[in-house]
Amino acid sequence: MSLRARAIIHLHNIAENWRQLHAVSNGTQTAAVIKADAYGHGLAPVAKALKAAGCSTFFVAHTFEGVEARAALGNDTQIFVLNGPSEADKVDLERHKLAPVINSVEQLALIEHWAWPTDRPYALHFDTGMNRLGLNAALVPEISLRVAARPPAIIMSHLACADQTASVLNDAQRAAFAHIASHFPGIQTSLTNSAGLCLSQPLSQSLSRPGYALYGGGQPPRGVELRPGMILEAPILQVRTVDKDGTTGYGATHPVTAGTGLAALAIGYGDGFPRSASNSGFAMLKGFRCPIVGRISMDLTVIDVTKAGNLARPGHYVQLIGPDAPLDLQAHHAGTIGYELTTGLTSRVERHYA
Ligand SMILES: *Cc1c(COP(=O)(O)O)cnc(C)c1O
Repeated sequence: MSLRARAIIHLHNIAENWRQLHAVSNGTQTAAVIKADAYGHGLAPVAKALKAAGCSTFFVAHTFEGVEARAALGNDTQIFVLNGPSEADKVDLERHKLAPVINSVEQLALIEHWAWPTDRPYALHFDTGMNRLGLNAALVPEISLRVAARPPAIIMSHLACADQTASVLNDAQRAAFAHIASHFPGIQTSLTNSAGLCLSQPLSQSLSRPGYALYGGGQPPRGVELRPGMILEAPILQVRTVDKDGTTGYGATHPVTAGTGLAALAIGYGDGFPRSASNSGFAMLKGFRCPIVGRISMDLTVIDVTKAGNLARPGHYVQLIGPDAPLDLQAHHAGTIGYELTTGLTSRVERHYA
């Protein structure tokens, strides 16, 4: 096998995470967010695994991702396109039976102009306080009348602070959403992402939209134990024992003393492993924590393997994300979030499906 970084994708863990989240959902339906190549885990294989686990509603960000999802999922599933429709996407939306999420008055006008068939699903996304994407909540009375002859399949909104249980914004958004939903009796409602599933207050919604939790990231709701969706490994190319005091890597940012064991890994920012983890991230080698020392370069990362002794050998793989190196912890060391870590891995990292 060639010595390059690999991500072993555990589809059964991802499916099991979905099953567990659904099991604690109190009868609410559970969709799956598979945008950005299923957060770097591979859109098509993840979509198929989740469908086999029982998921029937999927969210992607872009129409082209929807096309890929449709090919993997077949026609007996719903696929919503979060970023909404544009003129250039019309043919693909129709041909692949994708459901656009309408985020603005302009997008609503577009599907009206297309004479969107009444039996073809779409969603309305209202902004309830995040001020990012979504229809202005003040327009609810007007819009509910305007779509009366062509009602949406889902009314949705998105929480800004779902990961901060105590945030007052959660209550404000929850109340605003309940008000919006009251204008659309009998229509499915969807408010929460992964973190929203942990909020203690019951949420009135009929469909949740977890993404990150499916891949094992973040705090799970009570009664759920999330499993890692990915194990990221990199091979050791060379091991050295430093013979005299010096430094390692570009810029000589990390001093090393004689006798220190160093291993050069075949992974760097060219693989999407963030340079911001320089001198702060770590790799696990058979239970030994080996700190990243010096700057991460494009193709290479150096770790201190002194404690691992002769377990460090060329050709051996170390773990950078996985059960021994939790995603959120590694991301924290890189000054980022796990979402960015897994979606940022480039095609140079080989995906293997376990
Ligand atoms: C990405 C996204 C989600 C999923 O969020 P996670 O934090 O990954 O669970 C849900 N809803 C919307 C609108 C999103 O953009």
